This record gives sequence, structure tokens and C-alpha cells, in this order.
Amino acid sequence: MNLPVWNPAIEFMEREALERLQLAHLRQTVAWALKTPFYRGRLAEIGLRHPEDIAGLRDLRKLPYTTKDDLREAYPRGLLAVDLEQAVRLHTSSGTTGMPTVIYHSRQDLDRWTELVARCIVATGATAADVFQNMTGYGLFTGGLGLHYGAERVGMLVIPASSGNTGRQLHLMQSFQTTVVLVTPCYLLHLLAALDVEGIPRDRLALRKAFIGAEPHSEQTRRKIEELFRIDAYNSYGLSEMNGPGVAFECVYKTGLHLWEDAYILEMIDPRTLEPLPEGKTGEIVMTTLQRQATPLLRYRTRDLSHLLEGHCPCGRTHRRLARIKGRSDDMLIVNGVNIFPSQIEDVLMKVPEVGTNYLIQLDKRGSLDRLVVKTEICAKLFTGEPNALDDLRERIGEWLRSAILVKPAVELHEPGSLPVSEGKAKRVVDLRPAF
Ligand code: AMP
Ligand code: ZN
Repeated sequence: MNLPVWNPAIEFMEREALERLQLAHLRQTVAWALKTPFYRGRLAEIGLRHPEDIAGLRDLRKLPYTTKDDLREAYPRGLLAVDLEQAVRLHTSSGTTGMPTVIYHSRQDLDRWTELVARCIVATGATAADVFQNMTGYGLFTGGLGLHYGAERVGMLVIPASSGNTGRQLHLMQSFQTTVVLVTPCYLLHLLAALDVEGIPRDRLALRKAFIGAEPHSEQTRRKIEELFRIDAYNSYGLSEMNGPGVAFECVYKTGLHLWEDAYILEMIDPRTLEPLPEGKTGEIVMTTLQRQATPLLRYRTRDLSHLLEGHCPCGRTHRRLARIKGRSDDMLIVNGVNIFPSQIEDVLMKVPEVGTNYLIQLDKRGSLDRLVVKTEICAKLFTGEPNALDDLRERIGEWLRSAILVKPAVELHEPGSLPVSEGKAKRVVDLRPAF
């Protein structure tokens, strides 16, 4: 196959040259990091005061890990490495209004991010002739703007549809003959079901490719999507701490996610011992940014579990590949692409005077979409027997939760003692979603 490549000089770079480039970028990244109050302190603790102290890539292991909690601690400016005049945009992590983390970008950062996304798009065989409908949320979430600028750079016609509003999505897809979409796998299956409900024949759509990501999904789900829609679906992996989309993407061969190693150093660690793992072993992905000036991150613990694939992809790209994400090493839940920590739900519930101490978070499916149910015990005296007596409280709790986690759950109110009490460590989350 003779396929277009966005940046052949980098994408096919010999490993040795790539590692030399990584070392130069790592020193530059340490220089940027030393400009932030957060890393100045952290790096002083290990006696690192100059970028030249990094003699080789092996020295990366001497650097401290960075965690999501560190990002929260440094909020809002502790990790800003440039003057405010140089910062042109910020994004925060999705679904975390209570515990925000922020990433700043300089003009150069946005330019480099856009380039990474352009590489991913072209690697899937999409071209300037495509019509791209971006169905992920625009705004603080990175999926919208991140993919948007990459797609424009490739020259696609971009429809910034943003998320939700299924009827309008289908309408746009028909009017403009959308050929490529960016969407969560759940929402794509939901769209498919909506096509049936609306009685829209498949051949009224020109869709030929989907970039699917933001939540774990299996090879079977990809196949199901591809067969039912008669399209090609490519896995897209990213996280806001590493810009967002554009970190790793599948090429036309769909043999795992190529991770751009000129932009990120990839490590795999055992999440319990924090020791490095050999190729092929499943562990937690740790990444160091190599090109981000405004918020450099050293050895960021993503909490995502995967393994590195051995061998080479037929496309000839030299950057290593990740297997699809298997899950998380923390308790973060992903509900229709939105990240939620159970502690955020607990924080809201415990502020409501009527609520007792026992609650349960249940996840299941309604059609193709995830459904979040929050069950909580409330004071016995509130159960008066009147049919609508609890509607107001249920609605209020639902709204408070929505503003904290950006997802409106179904709220169930229960009498004290009626929810299961677990022995030992409370089991607060019941995930009934079929293994994806
Ligand atoms: P956010 O920072 O809001 O963009 O969320 C990033 C998180 O979403 C990642 O750390 C993963 O847990 C999850 N995620 C993103 N893309 C994928 C993907 N392709 N497969 C599985 N999980 C994903
Ligand atoms: Zn490839």
C-alpha cells in the first residue's frame, strides 16, 4: 500500500536518531520544568538544578513521578512554565469540577499538538477530501478543539458539531455527506440505533471512517461497529494531561496505537512497585511530555493499563505501539466518555443533610449508552407515604451531582438499612455494564 504520511521524516525516523531527538527534547523539557514552582522544588529534592544534569535517556528514571494529585496541588499556576503573555489557551480534565487539573498551552504548543493530530488523521487514510464531523464536546474537554485544528490542518471540511443532540447529528451527516466522525464507541452504537428508529437507510450516509476513543472498548466492539455501519473504525487514545487527542492512534493496518515518541517518552511500570516493566508486560502507562513548553510534565502516571506491542507495523512507522487500553489502576469511572471519581459523588452526597452514610453507585446500560444510578439512604422520617414527597429532594440531588460530575445520574432514595452493607471495605461501585 502506498499511503500518504503527514511527516515522513519524523514518522519513519530510525530509532537511534529518534532517541537522540528525545534526549535533546528531554533536556529542553527539564529546562522548562525548572521554570515552574512545582518542579523547581521537586527537582531540587533530587539535586537536579540544570538540564545538563541529564546525561542520557537512562537518567529519566532518576526523575520523580508526577500524579494527578500533584496537578491538583499545583492548581492553578504551579505548573505554568511561561509568562502569562505566552500562554494562549488552557484545558482542564473532563468531569472534574470539584478537583480540577489544568494544562496551559503556548502558541508553539498548540502548533505542535495540531501537527500530532494531523499525523494521526492522515495515518488512517483520511484526506483533505473528507468531511469531518466532530461529535466530541467542544470547550474545556480536549476532544473538540484538539481534533478540530488537526483536521483543519489536514484540509478536511470540519463540522464542529460537538456532542449530543442525536437528531441534529444525523441531519448534519446527511446534509453535508459526512465521511469521517470522531465519537465515543458507545455514542456511535447509539447513533446506529437512532438511524433505525428514524427510518434512515444507511445509504443516505456517506460515512466511511470513525475515530473512536475516550473510553475503553474491545476489538469485538470495534468489529461490531465496523460491520453494522460498514465503516473502518480507528482507536484514538489521548488524555488531557498529554494535550488530549493525538497521543496515540491506529494507522490503516489497525495493529495497535502508534504513540508519537518525538513528543512523549513512554514508560511502562508496575503500578504497585513502580518498577519498570519489560516489553509485552501489562502495566501502567507513564509519559513525559517532550514538546510542551507551557506545562511540561515529567513521568506522568496516567493510571491507564496497557502493554507495548512487539515487532513492527507494516506501515513502516518506527514509533512504538500500545495495545488497546485495558482499564485503569485507580477507581476512575468513564461514563459515556466522561471521567468520574466515586469520591466526587460521595462529596456531594455527604453535603446533603437528609442523606445518611450508606450509598451505592451503579453503572449499567440503557441501549448503547451508559447509565449512572446513584442510590442513597435518607432519613426514615422523610418516608411519609405521600406519592411525590421525595421528588423535590431527588431532583435537587440529581442537579447537584450533575454540576459536580457533568453527568446527570438517576437518583434513588432508600430507607435506612435497605442498601447492602458490606463487611470490611465498603463496596460503593457496582458496574453491571457488559465487558466491552
Ligand atoms: P481526559 O483527560 O478527560 O481526556 O480523559 C482521558 C482518559 O480517557 C484516559 O486517561 C483514558 O482513561 C480514557 N481514554 C481516552 N482514550 C481512550 C481509548 N482510546 N481507549 C480507552 N480509554 C481511553
Ligand atoms: Zn502502522
